[in-house]
Amino acid sequence: MFDTIIIGTGPAGISAALTLKQLNKNFLWIGSKNLSYKINSAEKIRNYPGLSNISGNEMKNIFLKQINDMGIEILDGQVTGVYDLSTHLAVLCNNEQYEAKTIILAMGVEAIKPISGEVELLGQGVSYCATCDGFLYKNKDITVVSSSKGFEHEAKYLASLANKVNYIGLYKDINMDLDNVNIIKGMPQKIEKEDKKMKLTFKDQVIESDGIFMLKEAISPSVLVPGLETKDGHILVDREMKTNINGVFAAGDSTGRPYQYAKAVGEGNVAAHSVVNYLNNLK
Ligand SMILES: Cc1cc2nc3c(=O)[nH]c(=O)nc-3n(C[C@H](O)[C@H](O)[C@H](O)COP(=O)(O)OP(=O)(O)OC[C@H]3O[C@@H](n4cnc5c(N)ncnc54)[C@H](O)[C@@H]3O)c2cc1C
Repeated sequence: MFDTIIIGTGPAGISAALTLKQLNKNFLWIGSKNLSYKINSAEKIRNYPGLSNISGNEMKNIFLKQINDMGIEILDGQVTGVYDLSTHLAVLCNNEQYEAKTIILAMGVEAIKPISGEVELLGQGVSYCATCDGFLYKNKDITVVSSSKGFEHEAKYLASLANKVNYIGLYKDINMDLDNVNIIKGMPQKIEKEDKKMKLTFKDQVIESDGIFMLKEAISPSVLVPGLETKDGHILVDREMKTNINGVFAAGDSTGRPYQYAKAVGEGNVAAHSVVNYLNNLK
């Protein structure tokens, strides 16, 4: 069992991982090996101490070098559930279950709010995870709503299984040129289920399929972690970054504004120290 599992590879997760490594803790770090798209996308960063006027991409490379130099590994994956087993905690990722004494939630903030029916029909025709649920839709018709280009490889994987894919990319430069992929433009408004068919409604049309994949960087923390207390989409924490669930800590944009690198890094550091105190008290 791990001492802790860190979820998210943005500045908050990076800071927590560096601190825990320095403190010799046995942790698993789950997220994207390419770190956070938010680090990458900043044109110029002017308010981060010590790094003057650098681009997000330069900052990403500095972070990556530091992570590699410290010998820290990232498990590339999307966590689909965190469960309180009362004696410890379990995390589901890439169809595997990982167990830990503590968890640090550093998943950033959900940029795209759930549409009507999305959360209600999760697991009943709506999925957040291509690799976990793709096989359920072999030779079937599916709809994929993707928040960024980074998910195209997952959508292509789904297209390799499915009969037909309706693809809604909520970003520019869509590159999904496959025979069985039908690109649809527009903003989805609601999801409904009728006679085992999933309906995705737009302003001017309704698309029917067997399943709907909502691929996005971050999902609602309260959906990911049942029982977690949130307010306006942010995780409620105290000054030690403790949540209402024993052993679960949170840091970064996920805990609220301001959405800033320095705040995320500071909170990741506090969360890591609080994890160590918590582990010491378990002994
Ligand atoms: C264009 C742009 C410019 C910006 N410029 C600045 C600036 O100049 N100065 C400044 O201070 N701030 C700036 N910011 C804000 C800054 O990027 C964020 O505040 C910061 O990245 C937050 O860090 P975080 O670690 O909390 O979350 P994020 O950076 O969002 O990282 C969260 C990570 O968790 C991953 N994740 C989410 N859910 C899961 C899951 N279920 N399983 C596994 N991984 C998951 C995400 O994919 C992501 O990699 C900018 C943001 C943008 C978008």
